[in-house]
Amino acid sequence: MERTTAKEKQYDKLGPRVAEAFRKRHFDAYYCATAQEALEKAVELIPKEGVVSWAGSETIREIGLVDYIRKNGYERLDQEDGKDRAEFMEITRRATTCDTYLMSSNGISEDGQLINIDRTGNRVAALCYGPKTVIVVAGMNKVVKTPEDALARARNVAAPVNMARFAGRVFPEGCTPCAVTGTCADCLTEQYCICSQIVTTRHCCPTGRIKVILVGEDLGF
Ligand code: SF4
Repeated sequence: MERTTAKEKQYDKLGPRVAEAFRKRHFDAYYCATAQEALEKAVELIPKEGVVSWAGSETIREIGLVDYIRKNGYERLDQEDGKDRAEFMEITRRATTCDTYLMSSNGISEDGQLINIDRTGNRVAALCYGPKTVIVVAGMNKVVKTPEDALARARNVAAPVNMARFAGRVFPEGCTPCAVTGTCADCLTEQYCICSQIVTTRHCCPTGRIKVILVGEDLGF
């Protein structure tokens, strides 16, 4: 289908340039105009043999990737199979050495760097080391000009929205300043601060281990 909106046109111009910036840093990188194309690319990149796991990412759900993995016979480590907290923790721990790990990113700079924040660190641990392959799927709404802008996005947009997602469900209501005000107050709240780890991935080693799929749609937050 022809892409006609101003935002689609802007994404289609910028997306391939950002993918090229990632490749200069030795990531594998792709630009897919639509969520459907991104799903097909991700499936193409995931070996059918080997264990797949993923972070609690809205983006990979939105493109249909989590459903696809669940319905198509992949061996998987699925946090939602955990019957209690102990099983959940064991699954997230084992996921850090799976074969293919799926996630998104909290912020991306135009020069091809990933910025991610994490509470306990399981997601950024898998990003940094462990899984043979990491596939990062991110809407172009995550792309900003500089690494500093990407950090600001992660702290001031992604983190408070993620807290809104969890507060009252996984965490108590009002458990952090951002859960009350909707904006970051650089807190040190015991147990509940979701900003314990802040990781910049500025280079991919081994070459091609991290595969970035940029999507020309707004996905996640
Ligand atoms: S207030 Fe605390 S938990 Fe919320 S975004 Fe800021 S540092 Fe993270």
